[in-house]
Amino acid sequence: MAIGETGETIQDLIGYAREQGAAGYDVDEVRVCECRDCGGRVFGMWGDLTRQAIQRSCRGCGRTHFIAGSGDHFEEDSAALMGCDCGSDDFNLAVGFALDDSRDTIRALAVTSRCVACGRLGYWDDRLVPGGDTTLMDLA
Ligand SMILES: [Zn+2]
Ligand SMILES: [Zn+2]
Repeated sequence: MAIGETGETIQDLIGYAREQGAAGYDVDEVRVCECRDCGGRVFGMWGDLTRQAIQRSCRGCGRTHFIAGSGDHFEEDSAALMGCDCGSDDFNLAVGFALDDSRDTIRALAVTSRCVACGRLGYWDDRLVPGGDTTLMDLA
């Protein structure tokens, strides 16, 4: 899929997350980010990309959450609100997980987004999670 590709639906975002992979590995599982409180699927995204931490903020109820346990590394001072080139900062988000051969640990993960305003698909972060626990999949 070419850079600048757009998606109409959450399904398109899931397909994109699979195609992008994570840190060079094939993605085995994709989890769509969903607010635990209100079930919303539109988020603002604060990224501290030097520390590979992303906080999402629900547009429906304001609840914040660190994607896949990345809050340990988050520093508010160096975080920035992520925005699409179209000017919107409202996104659907999905996290792709690459599992090891035994499928009980995570090798790497990647955060992907779909701009709600223009549909543009984006790839924000990938990182190696050596021996990462699969419970991280429930923290997308
Ligand atoms: Zn919410
Ligand atoms: Zn956009």
